[in-house]
Amino acid sequence: MKIDQVSDSVYVVAGTNVNWALVSDGTAVTVIDAGYPADTSDVLDSVAQIGHQLTDIAAVLITHAHLDHIGAIPTLVERVGMPVYTGAEEVRHAKREYLQQITPAGMIKQLTTRRGRRWVAHTLGAIRGNIGMTIPTATTGEPAVLAALPGKLVAIPTPGHTTGHTAYLLPTEGVLFSGDALVTGHPLLEHTGPQLLPTVFNHDEARTRTTAVDLGNQPVRTLVPGHGLPMTVEGDQLARALRAGRP
Ligand SMILES: [Zn+2]
Repeated sequence: MKIDQVSDSVYVVAGTNVNWALVSDGTAVTVIDAGYPADTSDVLDSVAQIGHQLTDIAAVLITHAHLDHIGAIPTLVERVGMPVYTGAEEVRHAKREYLQQITPAGMIKQLTTRRGRRWVAHTLGAIRGNIGMTIPTATTGEPAVLAALPGKLVAIPTPGHTTGHTAYLLPTEGVLFSGDALVTGHPLLEHTGPQLLPTVFNHDEARTRTTAVDLGNQPVRTLVPGHGLPMTVEGDQLARALRAGRP
């Protein structure tokens, strides 16, 4: 685990090939995404390392309900009992009314490269025993509710990677939490920098691309992706990189 403070109130934590973020207003904390199940103790530790207690967690927001973004939530719900918010459509995904994720065949395909074999091994280790995890307490993060949380975050529907995928903007500090709608790196990607995840992960590739281009037009000074390093954005750098397409 590595913790990086990227703005006055935002800390980004790198876990097992995935990020989560903590937004502190000095008193309470909003957690955005929650790592793999195997990252649970690191998620709890990260809150302590920025000087907070678990009971300071006001809410957990999720960008989408893939296992690498919800892993610590069952433990947090049990220990803290805070609400879990996401987009209205993603609530249904979090409850597993349906499932949109990489298929077993898609996983097996990765075994043909060394990069892919390492990623599959990491992934299977990080989800072990938790493949059926659901978040039954997830509810829709209504604008007024999010505005009352640390960070006063604004939800941005970002369909494609999953239908209900939701990004979050912290307007006063220009921080965009893009989840898997826009990443800067991943073990299966050759290059770093703003781009889409590999097609195999995206439920609807065409929508994922349109969404990423739209996100490039947000007033962003710091991009905090679900995978890869946080990035300082200069001017229209993001919009230009995304219009140029997959590097
Ligand atoms: Zn995902």
